[in-house]
Amino acid sequence: MNNKANIILTHNCNLKCLHCYIDAKACKEDLEKNYNKTIELIDKLEKDNFKQIMFTGGECLMFPKIVDLIKYAKSKNMIVSIFTNGMIFKQEVLDLVDMVNISVDGPDNIHNYIRQNENSYNNIIKVLDYLNSIDKYTILQMTINNFNYNNLDYLVDLTLSHLNVRTVKIACVIDDGRAKENSIYLDKEMLENVYAKMDNLYEKTKYHIQFVTSLYNKYDFENYCLNEKMMFPIWFDIPNEKYYLLNDKLSTNYDLNKYEFKNIQKDNLLYKNILKENKEIIERENYIDIEKSLFELIGGNRNEE
Ligand code: SF4
Repeated sequence: MNNKANIILTHNCNLKCLHCYIDAKACKEDLEKNYNKTIELIDKLEKDNFKQIMFTGGECLMFPKIVDLIKYAKSKNMIVSIFTNGMIFKQEVLDLVDMVNISVDGPDNIHNYIRQNENSYNNIIKVLDYLNSIDKYTILQMTINNFNYNNLDYLVDLTLSHLNVRTVKIACVIDDGRAKENSIYLDKEMLENVYAKMDNLYEKTKYHIQFVTSLYNKYDFENYCLNEKMMFPIWFDIPNEKYYLLNDKLSTNYDLNKYEFKNIQKDNLLYKNILKENKEIIERENYIDIEKSLFELIGGNRNEE
């Protein structure tokens, strides 16, 4: 099992997006303590045979020692990616990581409105253009809500003009935090409209389209399968010292000395229930093999260096 960890380095953020389900904003944290906790976690993950790490937040590029953390994880031979809102152009990080996940919510006026910042769209395009120029493996994530659910076609133009974008994730807004306050959740009809467009989008772009919403949803589940195997990233929330598999409502405090994270998926009751409920789907053969192809591609690049 190619285990993957998503590490929430910080809850601090330079945006206050309408759809933010964790209500992230500017906040103060003990950076030195969180840095040390992250180093400890990386050591533990290496021991537990984790091969991929994604740093996220809040906005992970606001974490002052992120370059050191990326270098540290890479020294353990891990595939390292970041998830960014694109507000900070940090070339050293973009050059260093194996993959970049970047949020885009639609054309400029819609993106800027959802992000509540008039420079946000220009900033992501600057980052995307740079990533394109160095052919960095890039994953676009669009969080669908009731302002942008009709703008999926926009993704086609953007991906075709940035061929470094190799995966597009369509996430559904989570009805929590500021998203809940702002009532921007999709109704059933809007969601059906999104699903109906997916095949067409995939055809046009020839890209892998990955749905990330609730894993109880059959559509999502299918797209998280690796043929017969499954890949659920494990989320580690550094400031709160918690981990969770599916959503933060089911989080648990962690103790790095006591638990073998390599066993987390088979030990987790929730995970077992999902396996049981979706046995039929798992046994079907034609799953989109996103994570595997991604892993092989990056691994291939690394060997050539
Ligand atoms: S959605 Fe992301 S970028 Fe926006 S406020 Fe929340 S953490 Fe920050």
